[in-house]
Amino acid sequence: MEFRDLKRQYQLHKKEIDGAVQEVIDGVHFISGPQVTRLERELAEYVGVGHCIACANGTDALQLALMAWEIGAGDAVFVPDFTFFSSGEVVPLTGAVPVFVDIDRDTFNISADSLRDAVEYVLHHTDLNPKAVVAVDLFGQPADYEAVRRVADTYGLLVLEDAAQSFGGMTGEQKTCSFGDISTTSFFPAKPLGCYGDGGAVFTDNEEWAQRLRSLHVHGKGSDKYDNIRIGLNSRLDTLQAAVLLEKLKFFEEEITACGRVAAAYDERLRDVVKTPVILNGNRSGWAQYTICLKDAAERDKVMAQMKADGIPSAVYYRKPMHRQEAFAGMLCGAERCENTEYVCDRCLSLPMHPYLEDAEIASVCESVRKAVE
Ligand SMILES: *Cc1c(COP(=O)(O)O)cnc(C)c1O
Repeated sequence: MEFRDLKRQYQLHKKEIDGAVQEVIDGVHFISGPQVTRLERELAEYVGVGHCIACANGTDALQLALMAWEIGAGDAVFVPDFTFFSSGEVVPLTGAVPVFVDIDRDTFNISADSLRDAVEYVLHHTDLNPKAVVAVDLFGQPADYEAVRRVADTYGLLVLEDAAQSFGGMTGEQKTCSFGDISTTSFFPAKPLGCYGDGGAVFTDNEEWAQRLRSLHVHGKGSDKYDNIRIGLNSRLDTLQAAVLLEKLKFFEEEITACGRVAAAYDERLRDVVKTPVILNGNRSGWAQYTICLKDAAERDKVMAQMKADGIPSAVYYRKPMHRQEAFAGMLCGAERCENTEYVCDRCLSLPMHPYLEDAEIASVCESVRKAVE
């Protein structure tokens, strides 16, 4: 059994994907080919925002957003303490200071109350200017943007939505990648919409930021790439990756629906023995991960050992709070007090999740988990 089965997906759609890849090779327009523009148009339409700029990966997408806002030295950027490293890594890259904020134990997403506390701390105890919050849609579920917006509006923070794990997720009728002032995603192969290498995208409704992002992702170009009006990055999406994504976008909705079915089957069989994921009313997850919580670290070790013995893959996302990563040592501002993050880091466990999991496989995952905890 695979944790995320990319092979089955490819086998099912081999003909179309091979055809699209071959077309790029025949056309030899490997950088900024017509497929990239077409993909940007289709992604913007799918998400429901004015502008999409495809780029090299989800980390660059976050960095480009901070660069477009000219965030830098003296600024504070608030980031959930429980997320993938990238969400915080990009902050010091711009010269700003990351301030880590606790999460909600049920949704794993940033807590608006903790965000308010962290901003107050920065205002009263540091010389930093609170500038932006990176709201991560962890494991696929959109963050609570209504609550995050209330705090952001109070303090004049820009909202950057890190939707690397939540492409295809929704709150009500609204899709992820449309909740931030700028939003970003990743097309890393194992993400909900993955390509065949690295890839990412930035979304915004703001015309001026969109123009700046277009420039920033090609060496800060002006009228062309040999006219350079600012310091930028080399962060384009390859034409080959765009071609793969255009094909995969065609059956993406079916895949999200299938993941929803897998999640419901897990819920049904596991609800009475472990804490299953809490998806809030009106939310649809993109199901990057299906993450349960065990009673304590010892019980998690037991479940992992049992699953391993049964030949079933599992993974811990994430074992360590961001504020305890060595890379951030010496740059923390002192506002980090993240009990819920510590709690979840000790107990979370992600189970195999992808659209092609079969009923028998789901049953054997659940049997293995139950055997260990009962
Ligand atoms: C994967 C991920 C990223 C980074 O995306 P890459 O394409 O791997 O650079 C950023 N944020 C989160 C939450 C992610 O899961």
